[in-house]
Amino acid sequence: MDIKHQSQIDFFKSYVNNTQKLVIVPHNNPDGDALGSSLGLCNTLKNMGKEAVVISPNEFPDFLNWMHGVNDVLIYDKNVKKAQQLISEAGLVIFLDFNALSRIKCMEAFFKEDTTPRIMIDHHPYPENETAAVQISVPEASSTCELLFQVLIESGFETSITKEAAECIYAGIMTDTGSLNYNSSRPDTYLIVAKLLGMGIDKEHIHHMIFHNNSFDRMRLLGYALGTKMERLPKQKAAFIALGQDELKRFNFKPGDTEGFVNQALWIEGVQVSAMFTEKNNLVKASFRSRNGFPANRFSETYFNGGGHFNAAGGESKLSLSDTIERFKTTLKEFCDEHGF
Ligand code: 5GP
Ligand code: MN
Repeated sequence: MDIKHQSQIDFFKSYVNNTQKLVIVPHNNPDGDALGSSLGLCNTLKNMGKEAVVISPNEFPDFLNWMHGVNDVLIYDKNVKKAQQLISEAGLVIFLDFNALSRIKCMEAFFKEDTTPRIMIDHHPYPENETAAVQISVPEASSTCELLFQVLIESGFETSITKEAAECIYAGIMTDTGSLNYNSSRPDTYLIVAKLLGMGIDKEHIHHMIFHNNSFDRMRLLGYALGTKMERLPKQKAAFIALGQDELKRFNFKPGDTEGFVNQALWIEGVQVSAMFTEKNNLVKASFRSRNGFPANRFSETYFNGGGHFNAAGGESKLSLSDTIERFKTTLKEFCDEHGF
């Protein structure tokens, strides 16, 4: 992959070489790519003798809790003072897997004021300038993990990448591509996977830890979501699932339990747009997936205050769950009619 960011790579390399204390920040509700890149980098930096810490805005899902270093991740919304102190002592902050300060939620206000030098490494399109003065933004990359690996190699840090760091990096590539299903047609991705395998990772074990460790409740929730809650909108070639808090409670919902559900409606013949709405305390979280040229990120940005990738985007709604569903139906119709989908 041609990163075309030589001056940014030089900045990253010289800052890392000359800085002892570093803070790494993934996006809110970190997924496999966000936490995998954060711990992949953190483990590498520690192996270089640095004092590095991952500060996550909020809790991460249990299916990632096998990653090396996960017990040292500081959760910002539970340790605000300590987190702010660590950031004030750090010489460099590295943002991974997001490109807008709004994606770090409870940390947004703090970083709007903070002056610690920071660099962003990310693969989402349309980065916002205020996120970081130095940005390594490569939307063609399958995942931030793939991009991070490339940045580490180009910075000359390859020999510092431990097997444990390589496991975290592989996990991000694998989860962001649906096990190398989508977003993964560039040969570079496989050259990097080959290098990670060469570093001794146990690919099958990682797949097992992520996909074959479901709770009984989560599998039953999936069955309920697909069997009882999924609805079709045939004219718009769409299908969606909406889950309310009472339903989630019934299945002892834990963060991460609905991860991947939204992909499943795309497995239906003829479906080109899939949506999932999950009711939280004071908002509804929206997820969109698409195929055949439907811009999920543009749709989410226009109607659900969100964004993301062309075929995988997220957003939110401040309306009630039922009003959100109604809004989805009307806006999807409007969008499809307007753009000829
Ligand atoms: P998910 O549906 O899995 O939460 O997110 C799908 C993709 O959209 C991910 O790449 C994620 O980073 C991005 N995304 C999720 N929520 C938001 C959001 O509220 N705003 C933006 N800009 N991107 C989002
Ligand atoms: Mn990602």
